Amino acid sequence: MVKLRIVAIAALAFGAAVVVGPPVGPSPAAAQQASVGDDPTKPLVYVFSLDAQDGAKAIDDGEAPFLASLVRGEQGARATYYKQSRGIMVSETNPNHTAMATGAYGKSSGISGNTFAVYDQAAKQNCPNEGGSTEPGRPMITSGESSTCLQAESFFAALKRLSPETVTAGIFGKPKLGRIFATKRIDPAVYDADHLWAPCEQASDDPPYCRNVLIDPVQRYTDDNIVMDEIIRTVDEGVPADGALRRPNLTFVNFPDIDQTGHVTGAGPAYTTQIGRTDQQLRRFVEHQKEKGLWGRTVVFFTSDHSMDSTTPTPGRGLQSAFGDDAGAVEIVLNGSVDMVYLKDRDRPDRDALLARLRQKALATGFADEALYRLPNAADGGVANTLDGVHPGWNIAGERTGDLFVTSKPGVAFGDGVPGELNPLPGNHGAPTTLDTTLAIVSGGGQVVQQTIDGLLGPRFDDT
Ligand SMILES: [Zn+2]
Repeated sequence: MVKLRIVAIAALAFGAAVVVGPPVGPSPAAAQQASVGDDPTKPLVYVFSLDAQDGAKAIDDGEAPFLASLVRGEQGARATYYKQSRGIMVSETNPNHTAMATGAYGKSSGISGNTFAVYDQAAKQNCPNEGGSTEPGRPMITSGESSTCLQAESFFAALKRLSPETVTAGIFGKPKLGRIFATKRIDPAVYDADHLWAPCEQASDDPPYCRNVLIDPVQRYTDDNIVMDEIIRTVDEGVPADGALRRPNLTFVNFPDIDQTGHVTGAGPAYTTQIGRTDQQLRRFVEHQKEKGLWGRTVVFFTSDHSMDSTTPTPGRGLQSAFGDDAGAVEIVLNGSVDMVYLKDRDRPDRDALLARLRQKALATGFADEALYRLPNAADGGVANTLDGVHPGWNIAGERTGDLFVTSKPGVAFGDGVPGELNPLPGNHGAPTTLDTTLAIVSGGGQVVQQTIDGLLGPRFDDT
């Protein structure tokens, strides 16, 4: 059975509202500003991941009016807007942020889901153990939330290797992203990023780069305002790099509030309102860059990892019960509106027949949309019902992906691992219906061409 990470989310959904941790302290003296190192010939690049922001709502519908104005080329900006941008499968936070930072799909990045399973013994050492089995050949379940579980090289490591004078920063409202990107690949003594920041979780294993700021008591994420405080602090004061305080050239940021609101309320009015609130933080950033005379060198990738689906909590939305007598042969790993099903023994002689039965049982539930094999199945159409055969654009069929990959219909989230198979969250994501993301590249100078790039939507949203 899957470890019940979702139970904590449930408490959030049902109204936990207090905060823990000390309030934010005053910013250090502005006198430091004069000593910030900065090469004025270099651009200042930001990747702002607006977690769970649906780009169509934010920009096309104007729910993020400031961002929409940037996209139109106002505010002294020029923008290239990718109107049909899509994330990668699984449309969850960790695989998509990993794709942003590495360029790798889920089949090879090492982070195939927010939760997944690994089989080889090295991976069991490198990834956090959250259930399953550590015996050879058996699947161990993991969040993947460790820098040693990440397989692809991030831009932090690549820049440290190729361009060590480029100053990099990672500022994450979600501590788990700090855990994934706190790699030390180039020099084992230091992080690949020059500066890392995430809220402390008041836990014994809090990393040295975390800061005591307000967090929600369940997920232990901080809020977008505090994230922007830290971005502005790094602009004004710089970050330690090469023995001096220097302004970052590349800053990767996660803003958690839109996602938090969406999970608790669904994709309705409160979610839309939060898109507008987060937009105020984007305005705050651009106005700050203008005041500092830095806007002309600033380039921002406004993006997101997935969108949000309203998923009415309903009992019995699990594959565990649907699989009946076959359930004991597999580990079912929940990713919102995707269930990844891993064989406990991938070498069993009847694997194709077993997986074919599981596929039929999944599709018979009525709430599963697609059920596809990781590998060709000689007992059921060969390559016909495989991930690569049906969705070659997903690039998800790697070692760390489930042997059967099941997506839910829109409006449904799976409940595997939850009592009553009842996923309590009114908002969820993971399936192809939540692949819609945001992508607009905006510059305050002339670095970006003013244009909108449209695309053609395929029936399964996998053409871009
Ligand atoms: Zn997310």
